[in-house]
Amino acid sequence: MPDIVVIGSYVVSLTVRVPRKPVIGEALIGDLFDMGPGGKGTNQAIAAARLGARVNLVACLGDDSFAGEAEQLLECEGIATEHIHRIRDVNTGVGMVTLLPSGDNMIVGHLGANLLMRPHHVEAAEQLIAQCDVLMAPLEAPLETVARAFELGRKHGALTILNPAPGQPLDPNILANVDLLTPNESETRILLRLAPDDPTPTLDLTDRLLDLGVGTIIVTRGEKGAVIVTAAGTEEIPAVPVQALDVTGAGDSFNAAMAVALGRGEDIGSAVERANRAGAYTTTHLGVIDGLPTTAELETFTV
Ligand code: ADP
Repeated sequence: MPDIVVIGSYVVSLTVRVPRKPVIGEALIGDLFDMGPGGKGTNQAIAAARLGARVNLVACLGDDSFAGEAEQLLECEGIATEHIHRIRDVNTGVGMVTLLPSGDNMIVGHLGANLLMRPHHVEAAEQLIAQCDVLMAPLEAPLETVARAFELGRKHGALTILNPAPGQPLDPNILANVDLLTPNESETRILLRLAPDDPTPTLDLTDRLLDLGVGTIIVTRGEKGAVIVTAAGTEEIPAVPVQALDVTGAGDSFNAAMAVALGRGEDIGSAVERANRAGAYTTTHLGVIDGLPTTAELETFTV
């Protein structure tokens, strides 16, 4: 059972389906409502726990009723919450999703307490980081906090996985402490300060990222699977062909499954194969948390 520490985040999504796009000033009543927990860090923590890892999440919640629900959910999923902090006078992270009948959506959000996660929050978890097999993080906490976590991960010899999502350019001093960087195709471009749809071939861009000091890059490519890039070359691992229903959270599922496999000592090729399988599983379910597989569900998943 590998030990995994996840750095940030918790966000609750409030989704309303409306018959059409609202216009400015209009109060449009919807026909469907869903409230669900998420945030990339929480998704990755829950996914890793369901796949058999011992998981600690370091994250900040606000001072509201969402925080209590978050704590209950994490406990229920078997995630250690001793480094979940409640911050006074601030809201828990929220995302408000307006869903159109076409399946397109519009989201406005506020990261709330996630933005107040400071380096001292990860320093308080140094003991755990020192004992873990894998330290992983998305980019939903302030960069100085993520940077400190990766410094500590490197100091103590953990395998460090950075999922640079949501995409943003990163300083080489953060990348230097990253063993595995896992951007999707648009994030690969954003990391290099290019437009998200820049036409340069992805594999030309990953060479530039290797030059910045990252050991291994795993680019996730949706229905095309993933490609492993190191200084020694590239290896494409095809996706599991599925009829995707909802691709939200596929990347979180992928990252968690890969982290668990690597934490168990599997080689990178088979870890990415397993991660492709987990990502594909997630796309066949509506909603993120409902689509994160347990080990048994992943084993019996057939396409
Ligand atoms: P993100 O969710 O971060 O944008 P991707 O869309 O690249 O990341 O998805 C992550 C992984 O999930 C992919 O590498 C792949 O393994 C799996 N996946 C995503 N979409 C599909 C799909 N349509 N069919 C099969 N697998 C998918």
